[in-house]
Amino acid sequence: MKKLSIEQLLGVDKFMVDDAEAHIVLNKEICATCAAKPCTWACPACLYTCRQDGEISFDYAGCLECGTCRLICPSPGAINWRYPRGACGVTFRYG
Ligand code: SF4
Ligand code: SF4
Repeated sequence: MKKLSIEQLLGVDKFMVDDAEAHIVLNKEICATCAAKPCTWACPACLYTCRQDGEISFDYAGCLECGTCRLICPSPGAINWRYPRGACGVTFRYG
């Protein structure tokens, strides 16, 4: 079976991005104190990346609303997480 890229995998889902209001907001000051940054390997959509300067980079567009980052984050208050507003967010079209 051919291995698909993350872009190809996410391409089977439909996203209605709420440009006016992010449903996940990070506290970058808390993230700066997080050494392990487990969000960077746990997010199935690969939305968290660690820049070369160590700062966390995150884009809520493409979020699958799985809640993994919220559960795995070791720092209380680092992630302000909620579901997207009505009609926004992911629609799973396959499976
Ligand atoms: S695991 Fe939590 S505190 Fe650590 S970088 Fe990710 S969001 Fe920030
Ligand atoms: S809820 Fe899931 S898909 Fe969305 S950012 Fe968190 S880990 Fe990634």
